[in-house]
Amino acid sequence: MRIDLHTHSSVSDGTESPAELLASASAAGLDVVALTDHDTTGGWAAAEAARPRGLTVVPGIELSCRWFPDDEPPVSVHLLGYLFDPLHPVFAAERARLRDERLDRAERIVRALAADGHPVDWDELVTHADGGVVGRPHIAGALVRGGVVSSVEEAFTTLLHHRSPYYVTKADTDVREGIALVRSAGGVPVFAHGLATKRGRVVSDDAIAAMADAGLLGLEVDHPDHSDAERDHLRGLAADLDLIVTGSSDYHGSNKTTPIGVCTTAPEEFERVLAAGTGTAPLRD
Ligand SMILES: [Zn+2]
Ligand SMILES: [Zn+2]
Repeated sequence: MRIDLHTHSSVSDGTESPAELLASASAAGLDVVALTDHDTTGGWAAAEAARPRGLTVVPGIELSCRWFPDDEPPVSVHLLGYLFDPLHPVFAAERARLRDERLDRAERIVRALAADGHPVDWDELVTHADGGVVGRPHIAGALVRGGVVSSVEEAFTTLLHHRSPYYVTKADTDVREGIALVRSAGGVPVFAHGLATKRGRVVSDDAIAAMADAGLLGLEVDHPDHSDAERDHLRGLAADLDLIVTGSSDYHGSNKTTPIGVCTTAPEEFERVLAAGTGTAPLRD
């Protein structure tokens, strides 16, 4: 059994449609794949319609959250949620707020860029995002199409990185609130790439213990952005806190170089996810 529990389609910032993503999962020999677009369940229906025979699809999400340490600035963290009820009203309202927030933030970045002589056509950008969650990758694409920069990578290193004057922060959900929302909708919350120091500041072990107290059920241990030492540390924490251990590629199509299925979840750990998720059923034969 090959199980990859973290992928993105073009409904958020991946490059493949949900149908293309599932075809990639099958072609890579995966038995199980989770669709975890940022802050949206917008790809679930297309995934259900396009699911190839023999492939199990786990409906999921990756929520943008924050951890608030006592005397330091907040840390941006990502929370995976699996098998929750997409119609749970309080959780659905929070996802709608996050989507509006992302759209508003993207528009503020675009306006600031335009005011400084880096024009981006906002309407063209929104059309190009095709109903998906608009984020910095979409702005990067628009900057390339507009001839402002020559590549998406250049856009991120020059105009869109988090120390750029054009960067706008998001009002993300407190991660403990995110955990509670996923649980209340019958879902399984898993802390994504929790110690990936190459992505920026990370939280302390105490913070992870506090998340477990708040109802967290799993830690994503095997992730392309984790070093061997970070994986070992997280594996130990998961054992201490009795949390599910997952592994996944965080596949984004051609937006990142990571192949689908490069890190995977053990079948017995996946069984724990299935046992805990009661809000919606996995899609399978
Ligand atoms: Zn993430
Ligand atoms: Zn991700």
